Amino acid sequence: MTTLLIATRNAHKVGEIQAILGAEFRCVTLREFPAAPPVVEDAATFAGNATKKAVELAKWLAGNSKFEIKNSKLNFVLADDSGLEVDALNGAPGVHSARFAALDRSAGGPPASSTENSKDSDNNAKLLHLLKDVPLEKRTARFRCVIALVRVPEKQIESASPVCYAGELEAQTFDGACEGRIQFAASGQGGFGYDPLFVPDGFKQSFAELGEDVKNQMSHRAKALVKLKKYFAAK
Ligand code: IMP
Repeated sequence: MTTLLIATRNAHKVGEIQAILGAEFRCVTLREFPAAPPVVEDAATFAGNATKKAVELAKWLAGNSKFEIKNSKLNFVLADDSGLEVDALNGAPGVHSARFAALDRSAGGPPASSTENSKDSDNNAKLLHLLKDVPLEKRTARFRCVIALVRVPEKQIESASPVCYAGELEAQTFDGACEGRIQFAASGQGGFGYDPLFVPDGFKQSFAELGEDVKNQMSHRAKALVKLKKYFAAK
């Protein structure tokens, strides 16, 4: 069985990824690796950030037999980078989705650290405020996700740069998008992030109202993970 380290500390993402991957994969998470180094997500694209996370963690794990989990080797690191693109905001918040509200502080008041995420409620309030005069037909948006998969090398790598494709740590990426629109007020208790504001095309309820099973059939993350599963099936 393939064992994956899911490289995120976001419990909601972990839950979705595990539910979508199913029993074919054994998943462990960063909660089982409290000493794992934090990775600064400073790339300009989802693919860049996902690759950076997966490569840096695979490099950290390389050659460390102590990272065997229940007698099974960790085969791959799987990193997800995702976010919301709003057309009326020229694609914002995009790669800054997790720290959208904190960006205001770095622009004006006390500096926000580059790794500091904002509370979901603050991000959602900022988004609603920016879109307050935008009519329904112009509130189109999409969630995007890029999953990067990197095999954990058998031996310690001394020379690899954080993002290295030269045969040492090669990343496979899988992407997915889910189109929809931003409603005028939050609704629903499920999910995380912008789910209470995002209504997927063909539905009248937000992801937070539709619930996990429906979301996991059509989300950006589900689409990327279906591609990843096909990749493993074809190997
Ligand atoms: P990341 O951990 O840097 O990938 O940050 C992703 C951010 O994008 C999250 O903190 C959320 O704000 C947003 N996001 C990504 N995927 C979803 C989703 O499925 N639902 C709601 N918000 C999401």
